[in-house]
Amino acid sequence: MPTVLFDIDGTLIHSGGVGQRALLRSFEDLTNKKIQINPLFLAGRTDYFIIYHLLENYLGGYERHKHERLLELYLQYLAEEIAKSPPKVLPGVYEVLNSLRDQGIRLGLLTGNVREGARLKLGDLYSYFSIGFFGDEEEDRNMLALKARSYLEDEFWIVGDTPHDISCARAGGGKCIAVATGHYSRHELAGADYVLNSLEEWFFYWH
Ligand SMILES: [Mg+2]
Repeated sequence: MPTVLFDIDGTLIHSGGVGQRALLRSFEDLTNKKIQINPLFLAGRTDYFIIYHLLENYLGGYERHKHERLLELYLQYLAEEIAKSPPKVLPGVYEVLNSLRDQGIRLGLLTGNVREGARLKLGDLYSYFSIGFFGDEEEDRNMLALKARSYLEDEFWIVGDTPHDISCARAGGGKCIAVATGHYSRHELAGADYVLNSLEEWFFYWH
């Protein structure tokens, strides 16, 4: 049986920028500075990568204690931002997850979010997934797929909304279904095995 590993933001949910707002609030607390971050810089990246670059570029260099403090603030603000405006589950998500679960397919997450951030963003959806590869400790998303490869015995599929998800699947020897529900168009996702306008089209391809 294959395993299907889902990305979160832009794939399962639209979070309406809660992660970005939480990150900027945490950053401001630590530095008293306001910065802008291009959402395309964040999309498909691991939280570790993002934190590393913020510390290197704005906080005098990477240090573990700064990382932990920024992450602690981020998770606190993320919970607040989600309470104010809960993420929206994207069309077709429940139908796809229920169908795969009924087929006995193992469902997992492969996401740049830290595990706790994933849990907060997904809410009830989190319980569908029995395994996860998260962005807590890996700067490079592709490493998550290599971990998946070494952990999973059978083939795996990665479902995501960015070119990073596609290269991640390739790096780990997995297949990729891309969905154009994030920042990228179908055209930009053409390197995937299948490209869907949204998960509502899943059943055209997967039986
Ligand atoms: Mg995504």
